[in-house]
Amino acid sequence: MSDHCDKGRRRFVKLSAIGVAVTPLVGRVSLAAERLEEDDPVAQALFYRHNAADASDHALFQEDRYCYNCVLYDGPEDAEWAPCSAVGNKLVAREGWCSVWVPRS
Ligand code: SF4
Repeated sequence: MSDHCDKGRRRFVKLSAIGVAVTPLVGRVSLAAERLEEDDPVAQALFYRHNAADASDHALFQEDRYCYNCVLYDGPEDAEWAPCSAVGNKLVAREGWCSVWVPRS
């Protein structure tokens, strides 16, 4: 076997080992995202509610405003929960709302 093949094989084995080692860490990071609770001080400061209808008495609330159609909802519109940068990337509810709401373009 040539040196070239041995180097290629060693490189493949090394990269595979790195991939095996890193994959569980990536899974843990995504699982580590925690949901924003309504009694969290940040949630209270922004009047966040898991259910937008529960915020209907707020002066800034308007119908058809939900986390899923806010530009800060960092996930697909049909995701039940997604990170939001306004609340430290904690997960907010798709049907939620807060006073920072900004429309998706
Ligand atoms: S900023 Fe947008 S996505 Fe984040 S909690 Fe408020 S309404 Fe929901």
